[in-house]
Amino acid sequence: MTDTARALSFLTIDVDAVVANWRRLAALIAPAEAAAVVKADCYGLGVEHIAPALAAAGCNSFFVATVDEGIQLRHLVPGAVIYVLGGPLPGSEPDFAAHRLVPVLNSLAQITGWSSFAKVGSAAPAAALHLDTGMNRLGLEEKELERLVAKPDVLTSIRPILAMSHLACADDAESPKNAEQLALFRRLSAMLPAMPLSLSASGGMFLGRSYRFDMARPGAALYGLNPIPDQPNPMSQVVRLQGKILQVRDVDSPMTVGYGASHRIARRGRIATVATGYADGWFRSLGKRGFGFIEGIKVPVVGRISMDLTTFDVSEIPETLARPGALVELIGPHQSADDVALAAGTIGYEVLTALGRRHHRRWLLGARGGVAE
Ligand SMILES: *Cc1c(COP(=O)(O)O)cnc(C)c1O
Repeated sequence: MTDTARALSFLTIDVDAVVANWRRLAALIAPAEAAAVVKADCYGLGVEHIAPALAAAGCNSFFVATVDEGIQLRHLVPGAVIYVLGGPLPGSEPDFAAHRLVPVLNSLAQITGWSSFAKVGSAAPAAALHLDTGMNRLGLEEKELERLVAKPDVLTSIRPILAMSHLACADDAESPKNAEQLALFRRLSAMLPAMPLSLSASGGMFLGRSYRFDMARPGAALYGLNPIPDQPNPMSQVVRLQGKILQVRDVDSPMTVGYGASHRIARRGRIATVATGYADGWFRSLGKRGFGFIEGIKVPVVGRISMDLTTFDVSEIPETLARPGALVELIGPHQSADDVALAAGTIGYEVLTALGRRHHRRWLLGARGGVAE
């Protein structure tokens, strides 16, 4: 039996759609540069297929979270600029240099470490500076920036090629925090020598021209999540998740379904058991709240989600469609990752990054690339 025939669930990733999303964002903010945030394996969708396609489309700057992600990415996009958001831990500076990774320096300690390394080593890459404007997570505060600019030799030695900050409320265009952070970013970056600036991720790119500076760092929007949640999604959908029906059974009152016997059958009907559960990233919180689609017809989750299985009420679906072997759409044209997140009580980012390792994965690579599995 082939892998595909044996597979119990399918995760299809439209790499062409990711590339189309990147092109759309790049056109939106031109002449500013659109980088690509590919941390966490491209939000769980497969950096080995996505990053080379983005580089081929002209994307030249990539952001990852960790050195290990940077090293993996270096082999995939040999010519690109790779920024590592976490910056170096003491002693890890040579790993950055060996793989030409640009550290995002998030504290005076990281700056001092990088400066000492750059002074002794001849081939240290340039660095980026992270200024905190209100996240209180990573980056220099105003007082620390003042201390840095008072030491021009340190600042020069790290060869800064980008100063960046990060918005806390970019998904809410009404939030006054956006304008506050913008004003602070302008004021802080003015204390530095002239260099390229970057403030916005996906959401900030839609807040208007003043938020775009020289570079934006979209992640979520590339992968089809909605960067402007109160408006229709301008991005193309990237992900499709389908689970296979293992069994269909007739049920009647007073039977119950699943763990905890939490779902009581009220009348005659049919239940389909699908081979996807919370171990696959189909959240347990979708119990009684989630939906699937069979040939475009909505079917509700009944009972609790198990580790490997989910039960759907298919009483309203013709038996010819809801049969063992048929596929139930869990994420796709009828329900986006954002929709599933809303039902599960989380955000699309978590839905994508939680997608499990058991799905049979397929990457659609466009007219020339075909399909990778
Ligand atoms: C993750 C991340 C991004 C990308 O954010 P999205 O909302 O996914 O576009 C950009 N910048 C920083 C600093 C990040 O941590």
